[in-house]
Amino acid sequence: MGLAIGDALGATTEFLTPREIKAQFGVHKDIVGGGWLHLKPGHVTDDTEMSLALGRAIHEHGGIFSAQAAAEAFSTWMSRKPVDIGHTVRRGISAYRRTGLPFVADNPMNAGNGGAMRVLPVALATLGAPWDQVLRAIRLQAHVTHTCRLADAGTEIVVALIQTALRTATPGTNDLTPLVEIFSTDWPEFSPNGKPETNPSGFIVHTLRAVFQALLLSEGFETGLINVVNRGGDADTTGAILGMILGATHGTTAIPKRWIKKLNPVTRSACIEQAHALLGFSPAIGGTHRTLTL
Ligand code: MG
Ligand code: MG
Repeated sequence: MGLAIGDALGATTEFLTPREIKAQFGVHKDIVGGGWLHLKPGHVTDDTEMSLALGRAIHEHGGIFSAQAAAEAFSTWMSRKPVDIGHTVRRGISAYRRTGLPFVADNPMNAGNGGAMRVLPVALATLGAPWDQVLRAIRLQAHVTHTCRLADAGTEIVVALIQTALRTATPGTNDLTPLVEIFSTDWPEFSPNGKPETNPSGFIVHTLRAVFQALLLSEGFETGLINVVNRGGDADTTGAILGMILGATHGTTAIPKRWIKKLNPVTRSACIEQAHALLGFSPAIGGTHRTLTL
């Protein structure tokens, strides 16, 4: 639900600059729809829709994850004329339809945030699985459209943050700062230190620098999301990714009621049902998740 709320909140300020947001809203803090997609309040974009499609694919296959099923789910989603779709995503799904291969060739130009924005179902279904299996599932779903080591690294840290947060017994007590710092030592381009990331692009480095800065600066779910979506740029996706991490950290009780009420009820129920179903497959609570290569 954190993902969907971040997406719905950020869609309003996607592609605006912080200055434009300030002129229009002062501080943007309510789910009001609009934006360049002219959304109804509470409606979501490709970030949430692709996540739900991936989650359904895992659920329908009884917790077995395969790249083929993910590619098929994304292809079905694309054929329903989504409100929004990224270039790299469209190219990857079109290639799958042409070749039947559920992965694209390695390409440094594929360093977009598309694999990270939809990775949540993998984080839930593999919670407690050995990390090499988690990595395998992350990459299989990402490589349907994005094959690139930088995008892989970014997608993997998002899952590591979500799973670390979920494994803490008391919501809100987990400080994710050390994990971000360790990751930034290996991948300095993602480091949240340095100048504030405003107007972040869909390049995974820009997206995640904005997410990390908002994560480390904020005390809770609400302040974090408000911080990140007011940076503008790819705000629905920074909102979606930070929403996953903060939702996992603070739990549903930390989500402001006004945002839950505004979220489209069909999306809201789908998120709740799917989160429960996917966690049911996770080894952390006794389920059996399995990953197939193709
Ligand atoms: Mg979007
Ligand atoms: Mg976006």
